[in-house]
Amino acid sequence: MSDCLFCDIVDGKIKANVVYQDDALVAFKDIAPKAPVHILIIPRKHIVSVSDIAEQDRDLIGQIFQVAAKLAREQGIAEGGYRVVVNSGPDAGQSVFHLHYHLLGGRQMSWPPG
Ligand code: 5GP
Ligand code: ZN
Repeated sequence: MSDCLFCDIVDGKIKANVVYQDDALVAFKDIAPKAPVHILIIPRKHIVSVSDIAEQDRDLIGQIFQVAAKLAREQGIAEGGYRVVVNSGPDAGQSVFHLHYHLLGGRQMSWPPG
C-alpha cells in the first residue's frame, strides 16, 4: 500500500533492523524501544488494525504468535517473561496503521498499562 511506513519496510524502501522474515511476516527492532527487547512483528500484507483481520488471516495471526515465542527464546526473554501487545485504534495509541505486534521484554512490566 502506498503511504504506509511499514509497507515501505516490507518492500525494503525504508531500512529496518530485521531480525526475522518469511513469506508472510517481517520482524524488526522498534526504532524507539520501550524495553531492552522491543521487536515489531508485522504481516507483509497490509492490514490496518485488529478490527480489519479477516477470516482468511486466521493462520497468519497464529504464525505471528509462533514467531513471537521463537524470537522471545532467541532474545533470552522467554524464561523471564514478555508481553505481546497490539494497539488497535487511536484510543489505544496506535500510531502506524499497518497491523503490528509489539514483542517487549527484558524488564519488569507494570499492570495495568497506561
Ligand atoms: P504503535 O504506536 O502504532 O502501537 O506502534 C508503532 C511503533 O512503530 C512505535 O513503537 C514506534 O517507535 C515504531 N516506529 C515508528 N516508525 C518507525 C520506523 O521508521 N522504524 C522502526 N523500526 N520503528 C518505527
Ligand atoms: Zn502497510
